[in-house]
Amino acid sequence: MDIPRSRLRPLMADELRRFEDLHPRSGSLFARARDSMLAGVPMPWMAEWAGSYPVFVSSASGARVEDVDGRSYVDLCLGDTGAMAGHSPPATVAAVASAASRGITTMLPTEDSIWVGEEMARRFGLPSWQFCLTATDANRFAIRLAREITGRPKVLVFAWCYHGSVDETFVVVGPDGSARMREDNMGPPVDPALTTRVVEWNDASALERELSHGDVACVLAEPALTNIGIVLPSEGFHSQLRALTRAAGSLLVIDETHTICAGPGGYTKAYGLGPDLLTIGKAIAGGVPAACYGMSAEVAGRVQARLDDMAVTDVGGIGGTLSGNALSLAAMRATLSEVLTDDAFERMIALGARWAGGVRDVIDEAGLPWEVQQLGARAEYWFSPTPPANGSEAAAADDHELARFLHLHALNRGVLLTPFHNMALMCPATTEADVDAHTEVFREAATALTAGR
Ligand code: PMP
Repeated sequence: MDIPRSRLRPLMADELRRFEDLHPRSGSLFARARDSMLAGVPMPWMAEWAGSYPVFVSSASGARVEDVDGRSYVDLCLGDTGAMAGHSPPATVAAVASAASRGITTMLPTEDSIWVGEEMARRFGLPSWQFCLTATDANRFAIRLAREITGRPKVLVFAWCYHGSVDETFVVVGPDGSARMREDNMGPPVDPALTTRVVEWNDASALERELSHGDVACVLAEPALTNIGIVLPSEGFHSQLRALTRAAGSLLVIDETHTICAGPGGYTKAYGLGPDLLTIGKAIAGGVPAACYGMSAEVAGRVQARLDDMAVTDVGGIGGTLSGNALSLAAMRATLSEVLTDDAFERMIALGARWAGGVRDVIDEAGLPWEVQQLGARAEYWFSPTPPANGSEAAAADDHELARFLHLHALNRGVLLTPFHNMALMCPATTEADVDAHTEVFREAATALTAGR
């Protein structure tokens, strides 16, 4: 059932008025911010929250955010996964304070790096690791390594993927099946159709066809799409992906930045994937900038052979002065050892199921033809009766206006959802009461949307 716009628009107008009444101080800060920042925010996407302007934060702790108007929120956005460990987890804060007083960056390794390398190997099953600052960089560096050791020029991605601001990835499948640049791609160095092959998620025959050209260095994939909503792999798709990449001599790079929500070793460990390289960032240092990429012994050997040939290795497009700095590594060690633990994941995944169950109950009560998907500690609702099978179906199922209403309705009642999706993420500090608070708010919104039907 489409929600009639004649019903939705007056409800949205009410919520916008309510938002402005509840957030006067954020309103005046935003007016001031426009004089010194493009779009009035540090980065333009911060202005994409559903209110008339962004809420300015005064503090955040655990699963809660406080704003400058004194309002408190259950935070199910969690910095779009950057704060999946909870806001300012005490163990990370203590490690950061201690590391910061002992030298933030020196261009020399610390023992923490060995601990984290060993821990990543234990969690994800790949033996050899490198550290950088963002998941974008981890993906960029993994792609460069793949191109270098295979001698092949292209990357293959899935339509509507997101792997950070990686030039090669802003493509969708065009009408003739070839790669077409996404319309929102700003200032590309070259048309990514030149660098990239693209297929729909879950389409093994298209994957086989595109890999058969023999020019794909690597396939870069989230193990389930999460950036156009959650789109799970169909039965058997991962084994086809692995077999086809092996047969074609293309490396498989799995990006676990969001899918770490599936468990302590991400989707890779939970479902026994065997990638050649694995990238991850965002949450692993409790929100302190840190990321890493791991590789199989075979890939590491091939890369090392190339490094042995090079006189200088910091000019090869892989690097960054602050990569692997002492502060990031200390934050990673504390977050992995004390916050994002096996026990924490068990609780977070149970909360993900509780959230999905609550939303499903409301959808059923209201008779809405909507669907819920859960991936471990992350869950999401869709405005379609069946879950989309690929990125293009997911993009088509979006209803931006309706999503904005539901997000603003929740925000006005003290619940934050990730602005770009109908998605909720649990952190170790999230409680059952937090989850149930969302269910109640969602029930109220569903009732308003379906009243008088
Ligand atoms: N990979 C995935 C799967 C992501 O979702 C994102 C960001 N949403 C990135 C990589 C990039 O992360 P960052 O912006 O921190 O570099």
